[in-house]
Order: sequence, then C-alpha cells, then structure tokens
Amino acid sequence: RVKEDGKNNVQFYTQEMNQSLSRKSKIALSIREGLERDEFSVHYQPQIDIETERIVGVEALVRWHHPTFGMISPAEFIPIAEESGMILNIGDFVLRTACHQNKAWQDAGLDPFRVAVNISAKQFSKPNMAEIVTAALTESKLAPEYLELELTESIIQEAALAISKMDQLKKMGIHLSIDDFGTGYSSLSYLKLFPVDTLKIDQYFTRNIQTDAKDAALVDTIIQMARNLDLNVIAEGVETIEQLAFLKAKGCHQAQGYYFQKPLVPEKITELYAPVR
Ligand code: C2E
Ligand code: MG
Ligand code: MG
Ligand code: MG
Repeated sequence: RVKEDGKNNVQFYTQEMNQSLSRKSKIALSIREGLERDEFSVHYQPQIDIETERIVGVEALVRWHHPTFGMISPAEFIPIAEESGMILNIGDFVLRTACHQNKAWQDAGLDPFRVAVNISAKQFSKPNMAEIVTAALTESKLAPEYLELELTESIIQEAALAISKMDQLKKMGIHLSIDDFGTGYSSLSYLKLFPVDTLKIDQYFTRNIQTDAKDAALVDTIIQMARNLDLNVIAEGVETIEQLAFLKAKGCHQAQGYYFQKPLVPEKITELYAPVR
C-alpha cells in the first residue's frame, strides 16, 4: 500500500512535470505556424511628455493569440522564442509591422511620433542586424528618426561589438534606449560608452515610489544622472497621479503606464490622436 502510494505520487509528479514541459514545448513548436497564420499582432502603448502631456512616442508590444492557449503573455513566450531562435522571426515581424504602422499614422495626418521596438540580445547580436533594420525602414518609407530601438543591459556582455553596432545605428539616425534600466548588470561606465539617447526606468522602481524611500531615492538619482548626462529619461509603469507628480517634481521627461493608457490596438491610437477636423 505504502509502496503503491509512493508509486502513484511519483507518477502524479511526473505527469505534472510533463504537462508543464509540454505547454512550453507546444509553445516553442507553434511559434512558426502562429506567425504564418497571423496569430501575432502588435499593440502600442503611448509615451507621454510629462510637461506638455502630449504623446511623443509609442512602444510596440507583441501579442499572441494562440489557438488553444488563448492569449499568451510575451513574458512567457519571448524567453521560449529566445531559446529556440524564433525570436528572430518574431522580432522581424514586430519591427516591420511597427515601421509600417507608424508610417500609416503619419500618412493619416497624426503629428509624427516615434515607435519604440524591443530588441532581444539574440537579435542584436546578429551580424546582419543593421541590414534588417534598414530593410524595415526602406520598405515602410518610415524616416529613421521615428524609429527607436529598446535594448536591455543584457547586450552588454559583448561590449566592444555592441558599441560599434550602436554607433552604426546612430549614424543611420535611429534612436536608441536602454530598457529596464537598473535591473541588469549596469555599469556606469557603459553610459559613457554607449551612444544611447534614452534611459527607461524599469516599472519595478516606479511601482514603489510612494511606499519605499529607497526606490524613490533610486528613481530620483537615475533621473538626475540622466539629466546630467544629457540623456532623455522615461519612467515605465506609471499607474497613479502621485507617481506622476513625483516624477514631474524630479524632472523626469516622459512617462508610460496605465495612468495614461494601456497598450492599445493601432486603430485606437488613430482614434485618440488623429487631428480634430
Ligand atoms: P518591457 O519592454 O519592459 O515592456 C513594458 C511592459 O510593461 C509591457 O508588458 C507593458 O504592457 C507593461 N506595462 C506598461 N505600463 C504598465 C503599468 O502601468 N503597470 C504595469 N503593471 N505594467 C505596465 P508586456 O506587453 O506584457 O511585455 C512584457 C515584456 O515582454 C516587455 O517588457 C518586453 O521585455 C517583452 N516584449 C514585449 N514585446 C516584445 C517584442 O516585440 N520583442 C521583444 N524582444 N520583447 C518583447
Ligand atoms: Mg520595452
Ligand atoms: Mg521596459
Ligand atoms: Mg520591464
């Protein structure tokens, strides 16, 4: 009996493991098909100038409606796609879609703003990275100044190579930002070496501005540091008017978060920001 229970426990445990493994491998295996079947889309979250409260950009965020799993968070499938290499296909899709969409908004008469696209370390390290970006701009006819690439501190692993690539992208006229600033292997010397325009303060810090004096001090310090280095600084994950007031008082340039808008379908952006006739 004891032995039987033991055996059952082992079987149960194995089955659970199989179930979780199989969700992961099912996800991994269905990315290519999902791209072919148009299951992926891109939503856009406004980035707001804190002084004027006007839209200055949007961040492109990928969405996946899986036929059996429903909506899957990018927080779940992006790491899987990074492991399998399919991040290159997803990244290419998002980049092309975002460039085309931003040009379409400009053609529709919206005041031009930048579209920020998240670039994974694996995408960034491809030798033909700059060509892929050039192709997306050429095809869409979007001017490079209206494209921003969000890089994370994880690309720092190959610093010399990263710097020369970033220089290449900067020469093309593209904007560069460091995403999730403060959560990775930050080294202050990289801020001097990396030709970036913008620091994005991670929502992990923004979230606790009101409740944690240390997070408030960190956010304040990042803002002052960015300003002293002549960098643009944007806070992610702004949800409350109190957080916004703090950021404004400290001189943060821009904000992005649910307080203003959630990531939206492109039609909603058009509706919200189209010129009034
Ligand atoms: P991220 O680049 O830091 O994007 C910000 C995330 O915060 C987004 O989650 C956004 O929906 C969420 N967010 C925005 N405002 C608020 C707020 O006020 N409160 C809270 N709680 N959350 C807020 P999302 O869309 O689920 O994306 C998660 C992460 O997945 C992204 O973090 C990014 O690392 C990755 N990701 C998304 N799209 C892409 C993509 O096209 N390519 C790559 N490589 N990664 C992507
Ligand atoms: Mg981002
Ligand atoms: Mg971020
Ligand atoms: Mg983040």
